[in-house]
Amino acid sequence: MQGTYFVFADKPALAHELISFGASAGKRVCAIALEEGQAQGYIYHGAGKVLVLKGSNDIPESYAKAMATLLKKEGAEVFLVGATVRGRELAARVAGYLDWAMVSDVSSLRYGEEGELVTERLMYGGAVLQVEAVRGPAVITVPGGKFEGRADETRKGEITSVEVEADPRVVLLERTPIEKQGADLAIAEKIVGVGMGFAKQEDLKLAEELAQTLGAELGCSRGVAEERKWLPADLYIGISGATVKPRLYLSFGISGQVQHIVGVRDAKIIAAVDINENAPIFQAADYGIVGDLYEILPLLTAAVKKIKQ
Ligand SMILES: Cc1cc2nc3c(=O)[nH]c(=O)nc-3n(C[C@H](O)[C@H](O)[C@H](O)COP(=O)(O)OP(=O)(O)OC[C@H]3O[C@@H](n4cnc5c(N)ncnc54)[C@H](O)[C@@H]3O)c2cc1C
Repeated sequence: MQGTYFVFADKPALAHELISFGASAGKRVCAIALEEGQAQGYIYHGAGKVLVLKGSNDIPESYAKAMATLLKKEGAEVFLVGATVRGRELAARVAGYLDWAMVSDVSSLRYGEEGELVTERLMYGGAVLQVEAVRGPAVITVPGGKFEGRADETRKGEITSVEVEADPRVVLLERTPIEKQGADLAIAEKIVGVGMGFAKQEDLKLAEELAQTLGAELGCSRGVAEERKWLPADLYIGISGATVKPRLYLSFGISGQVQHIVGVRDAKIIAAVDINENAPIFQAADYGIVGDLYEILPLLTAAVKKIKQ
């Protein structure tokens, strides 16, 4: 299976994105799953083969050695791993076992003129975009939202179960779901983002009303959640918060620092309102209004209500 992309992510939706990327790059894709039920979905998204690992541990990274052995045996070219907390740990271990190159948390992947893999990633808190060339086999971690998962239910592939040994040194004792306080912004189609331009917490009602009228979710900049505690931490967007890819991102009173923009740059349309015509948000926005959000927000809400009547 020389030239094959191997893919693993502990979140199936992320695995779908990585598999679709490999398939659209014309690669044979072999996905690794830890649950049988994930395999068919992986085939639909473009995996020619799915290896379902059967072992005695519930922790994905305990399969690092087993995965490294499989990658070597099957002649993998690249191992794409979803950049989740578990995925990053697993990827580092696999790269260590194989002595492969590793690049973490890339924002894009493409091939260069000499067939080398070219990766881009944000460094220094998002202030710099670094481009790197990767030669030889490599482990690469990719966060969610970078590629589109494309399913085709007519696709066929091979599903094979493989008995493997899991590392028994760390075992799962308990898993208790934490209730999310805010909406799941990662899947929101429309988001109204609020920033430090709001003077008082109760003024957020203006944005909430627009969001409700549009059927959008509310998101925010870090300061609104972390400093002022006006909204739950789940709702802040950016390099250290949520990564979103809505069809529409409307921002109000957000200056558009790079650490925020990193989280919204995959939005299809960004429209921004800021009182400062030099605010960096206007560089990232498709549409912008220089003005006072206290004036513009109610006008926008009224306009949307009128259209919906
Ligand atoms: C390591 C690191 C990680 C970070 N991660 C994140 C992150 O993930 N997400 C994030 O958001 N930030 C992050 N930050 C913080 C980031 O650098 C910015 O400080 C933050 O995004 C600014 O938030 P803001 O735009 O709401 O506030 P400000 O930068 O203060 O901007 C407020 C804006 O409101 C405008 N305004 C004021 N009054 C009005 C009005 N009446 N009408 C219209 N506009 C008005 C102002 O002109 C200004 O542009 C990070 C910083 C660091 C160092």
